Amino acid sequence: MNNVPLIFNCYHCIHCCFFVSVEEAPIVLEDEVEVLRRKAREIGKELEFTKLGNGLFRWVLKGFCPFYNIKDRRCSIHQVKPLSCKMYPLLLNIKTWDIHVSTACDWVLEHLNELLYNHDLNLSEVFKDELRAVRTLFKAYLLKSQT
Ligand code: SF4
Ligand code: SF4
Repeated sequence: MNNVPLIFNCYHCIHCCFFVSVEEAPIVLEDEVEVLRRKAREIGKELEFTKLGNGLFRWVLKGFCPFYNIKDRRCSIHQVKPLSCKMYPLLLNIKTWDIHVSTACDWVLEHLNELLYNHDLNLSEVFKDELRAVRTLFKAYLLKSQT
C-alpha cells in the first residue's frame, strides 16, 4: 500500500502560462497590477488590464505570458506572481466563489482517478499552498468590496 500523501507537485509542463484566449487569462488585484506593470517595464514591455470592479482586473493576455521563460519552463517572476497563478490548478469562479480543480493541468489529469475516487483524500492537504492563495485573494477581495 502506498502511504505517501498525495501533494500537488507542478510538472512545469508548458500549459498554464499560455493563454488561448483573454478569457483564460488571470484575474488580478489592483496591487498586483502595479507589481506586474513594474516587472514588465523592467523587460521593456507594457501590459494591459481590463477593470472588472471591486478591485479586480482581467489581465489582457493571449499566447505566452511575457514572464514565462520557455527555455527553463519557469515563471521569471515566481516570487511576485499573482495569486491567480499561485492558486493554479485551482480555479476560482469570481461570480459564485466556487473553487474548481482544472483538468487542463497535466498533474491533475495524471492523478484524476485518485482525486475523484479516493474518498480518504483530503483535498485541503493535496492543494494546501494553492488554497492559501485562494484564501488570500478572497480576503483581499472582501476587504476591497467593503471600502
Ligand atoms: S506570471 Fe508567471 S505563473 Fe503567471 S502566467 Fe505569467 S509566467 Fe505563468
Ligand atoms: S499545467 Fe499543471 S503541471 Fe503543468 S505547469 Fe501548469 S500547474 Fe504545473
